[in-house]
Amino acid sequence: MSRLTLYIGHRLSGIGHRSPALGILIAAAAIGACSLLGGRTFSIAPNPDRNVLLVTIDTLRADALGSYGGKAPTPHLDALASHGARFTFAHAHAVVTLVSHASILTGRYPYEHGIRDNTGYRLAPGEPTLAAALKARGFETGAFVGGFPLDRRFGLTAGFDRYDDRMTKAGPAGEISQRERPADAVVASALDWIGGRSGKWFAWVHVYDPHEPYEPPGEFASRFAQEPYLGEVAWTDAALGPLLQRLASLSRPTLVVVTADHGESLGDHGERTHSLFAYEATLRVPLIVSEITKDTKETKDAKDRGRVIDTPVRHVDLFPTILSSAGDGTTGSGASLLDVIKADGGPDRPSYFEAMSAAVTRGWAPLRGVLVGREKYIDLPIVELYDLASDPKEAANVAGAKGDRVRVMTESLKQFNVAPPARAGVETAETIERLRSLGYIGGGSSAVREKYTDADDPKRLVEIEQMLTRGDEAWRAGRGSEAADIYRAVIRKRPDTEDAYRKLAFALWRDGRSADAIATLELALRNGVTQSEVRIRLGQYLAEAGQPAKAIALLKDTAGSDPDALIALGNAYTMAGRFADGAAVYRRLLAADPVNALAHENLGMAQFQAKDVKGAEASLRRAIEIDPSLAGAYTALGVVLATTGRTPDAIEAWKKALALDPSDRNAADNLRRVGAR
Ligand SMILES: [Zn+2]
Repeated sequence: MSRLTLYIGHRLSGIGHRSPALGILIAAAAIGACSLLGGRTFSIAPNPDRNVLLVTIDTLRADALGSYGGKAPTPHLDALASHGARFTFAHAHAVVTLVSHASILTGRYPYEHGIRDNTGYRLAPGEPTLAAALKARGFETGAFVGGFPLDRRFGLTAGFDRYDDRMTKAGPAGEISQRERPADAVVASALDWIGGRSGKWFAWVHVYDPHEPYEPPGEFASRFAQEPYLGEVAWTDAALGPLLQRLASLSRPTLVVVTADHGESLGDHGERTHSLFAYEATLRVPLIVSEITKDTKETKDAKDRGRVIDTPVRHVDLFPTILSSAGDGTTGSGASLLDVIKADGGPDRPSYFEAMSAAVTRGWAPLRGVLVGREKYIDLPIVELYDLASDPKEAANVAGAKGDRVRVMTESLKQFNVAPPARAGVETAETIERLRSLGYIGGGSSAVREKYTDADDPKRLVEIEQMLTRGDEAWRAGRGSEAADIYRAVIRKRPDTEDAYRKLAFALWRDGRSADAIATLELALRNGVTQSEVRIRLGQYLAEAGQPAKAIALLKDTAGSDPDALIALGNAYTMAGRFADGAAVYRRLLAADPVNALAHENLGMAQFQAKDVKGAEASLRRAIEIDPSLAGAYTALGVVLATTGRTPDAIEAWKKALALDPSDRNAADNLRRVGAR
């Protein structure tokens, strides 16, 4: 019988290769001039009968795009900007995927929508969203996302008729790599959906490719061998081409908004990827607002319509901009940009920002700040103040020299909510009590601290971030024991570094050292690191390691609606021979998420072991239908087919499993057993 699939959630963890040349690519200050010939300059008049396309490009530095002076050839996005409005000073409110997208899609700041990191949070049902607002105004709504941080489990689905989060590229299970789907596949799915619409529609297309690892396909790899990040950007532009081209053939005009969720540090300030700091490399984003109609042609005339706008604008402005383009006024944290576009500028819009990942997972000082005009203030134990007009690279912290400005900016920041967030996925008091009764927890708990010192400032702790990155790199390069040593060293330095325990446990687990992996997570709990992810992961490992009773005790009353926890609990029941209980847990998960392929797969295996062969076959086929990349589902389907006298079909299924995952030993063994290998 094939082993139950271990399902492991993924956390955004930055790894990347430094691409130093990009450091000099800060876009030249735009002139802000635009052609005013004949009144044909670009603007957006409210029109309720217009499609809306929102494109979010993950991890895209503004200064990478051609139109922003960057080195990546991006002809499609450059053309879009050339006949629309390009904002030179647009900012995100957060520097990780889920948080930033939640702000784009709700028009609210992180402290308002409540999502502060990629894991441990989900958007609350009933939160007002752009999709829900447009749906209420008669739009058909579709989302097409390319990266795991936007998986449906995180709750951005509200208001979408279709939420397509099928990830076709399964990274090795675990937090060190992430499942994703290449940009061309995302675009193909979106085009398919758009082709089937007769009414007006709103489509959100998210492409993930510039996110690390930087592995552009085909010619983009060879052309950008030295700067693979730029290769990913160029490839992404090429992949978006067919989508933008299609819009010119539609009967309705389409408002097109393109932005990034955040940028990428590429070594700036000692950070390789994103999430730790909120310097301009990761906080400043491209923003293009344009329109494509049947008449849109890449003529000189069309290009003369373009505007370049230097007014500071923010992600929270996108929600009201899109709604007002459809003829609706809204209230919210932001304000529509239609007037700014029309007038080539407008009054300053102060912008709140934060970087909370290290605060909520590692107990470091929370980072938040405010941008007013070109002045940027970062509120940390070691405060920072930059004049971006004269110092766009944030090389000189002038907080010490300009105490008066720090006081003014501190007051500006206070207009926003600066209460530190709770730690991610903090266990409820009830769960803590349960963990204590099971002997996992001593006295400690990782409550939010009131006071942080210089020692908690991420600037002082960047070394730990770099250690974790080095550990990830060692792991990826196949040097597992070196990676484990690095993670252990991190834990010795900062015993509240939750992700270090999970990474170490995972490295040990993959090395076949299941007892050590379990001991690592138990140590995390003893050290007061009580985020739910630790408990869920521990439950997964216990079940897989043949200790299902302990796993059930840990998860039975605390799984809630968390997909990872439910999968682990179902696995534990199945391992314990309690197939009906296992099937019931998977069905509970499927009631909330009917297209969870892994739940179908594991349900199929539980049904098979309960001798419900017919049910098992149906579940496994459903799993494969939803996610054709699930090797384990093919392996199990092969077992079902072989036991019902369909050996040739079984051989096909196992071969398919092996093609998908050459390390699938069960499929290989089964093939040998029937003499087909
Ligand atoms: Zn992202």
